[in-house]
Amino acid sequence: MAKVLCVLYDDPVDGYPPSYARDQIPAIERYYDGQTTPTPQAIDFTPGELLGCVSGELGLRSFLEDRGHALVVTADKDGPESVFERELADAEVVISQPFWPAYLTAERIASAPELKLALTAGIGSDHVDLQAAIERGITVAEVTYCNSISVAEHVVMMILALVRNYIPSHEWVVRGGWNIADCVSRSYDLEGMQVGTVAAGRIGSAVLRRLKPFEVGLHYTDRHRLPAEVEQELGVSFHDDVESLVQACDVITINAPLHPETEHMFDEQLIAKMKRGAYLINTARGKICDRDAVARACESGQLAGYAGDVWFPQPAPRDHPWRSMPHHGMTPHTSGTSLSAQARYAAGVREILECFFDGRPIREEYLIVDGGQLAGAGAHSYSAGDATGGSDEAARFTRT
Ligand code: NDP
Repeated sequence: MAKVLCVLYDDPVDGYPPSYARDQIPAIERYYDGQTTPTPQAIDFTPGELLGCVSGELGLRSFLEDRGHALVVTADKDGPESVFERELADAEVVISQPFWPAYLTAERIASAPELKLALTAGIGSDHVDLQAAIERGITVAEVTYCNSISVAEHVVMMILALVRNYIPSHEWVVRGGWNIADCVSRSYDLEGMQVGTVAAGRIGSAVLRRLKPFEVGLHYTDRHRLPAEVEQELGVSFHDDVESLVQACDVITINAPLHPETEHMFDEQLIAKMKRGAYLINTARGKICDRDAVARACESGQLAGYAGDVWFPQPAPRDHPWRSMPHHGMTPHTSGTSLSAQARYAAGVREILECFFDGRPIREEYLIVDGGQLAGAGAHSYSAGDATGGSDEAARFTRT
């Protein structure tokens, strides 16, 4: 019998289950590159249900308990007194979502001698000290591609929201006003602008494909260059480095994982090299940007706007400057946890657990660390090391 410790975000304040806006979600069988969506032997939930919160339990309880395993689900994840720290001591599997990450630091890994699998219900396993996982031989896996399109849609929405000044205009209506001049004095067309992505992986290339019909100039930088025919089809220009990219672009979207190479990539110096009045959209990870440099650039006008859904740490404390800086379009970490995405990553978690308990190999594309080294998607897109430093600050968050 194994103990599975699952950290999920809190239930809705009005209770669980919520009343749903729609009765169905579309069934997606394959992603753009042909990879199949998750293929578990069965699921015990209805796609479209809220699965990512504590009462949703990722739809895992009967599956695990029928096999004799114990499932502990909690949202209490930060600080030495948390349920997570207490339950970790004899957990064999930890499941966590990037939206409400259970930071698995080296200290926490050292306190969990039974831990064999750290499973990310989503994409992005930077909340795990990957170096410590490598050294301890812990497998780290995530549900690659499960919410990449969810995020790409969100990026396009946020680019348009900032450039067209949507959020302040909406607020004028809610306040009873009709202040057209106030609404449009920061409103532009995206058409003709130069838009660049830092990384053209699953999300970055999906953003490029979605933006092509907007008649913008498209740019990217990445560690590996896209095939020439893809560059040609999209009409996208490659830049050798991020400095060259930001100098050419009016809008930058960040779509790389957080790992030692990308931590604080957007610091004071790089932001100063951007065009004055550029827009920066970060749905990748908060720590890829320097928190205070972004806030200062929004204040000074070096950035015309900053939007995204990722922060460091998560949840962000009340006094995090991105909550109050001007011209921002921040939300909590939501882009990859739409109800549509949840159905895919809950099924993916189930698939990975079935493989783990049955002794079958986990799909190569789901692996980040395995056998004491970066593996699968992790070997392609990450570098070894640790990006969890400072995550204990998450304990400062207080619920409203
Ligand atoms: P992919 O693995 O498909 O793409 C990541 C890309 O980043 C790869 O092309 C990789 O390059 C590139 N990359 C890695 N390091 C660098 C670097 N130093 N400079 C430039 N490019 C780099 O992942 P996805 O596109 O699906 O997801 C990307 C990230 O987005 C996730 O890791 C996660 O952090 C975040 N995310 C956020 C979500 C949200 O809800 N906000 C949900 C899902 C993901 P290569 O492989 O060529 O080496």
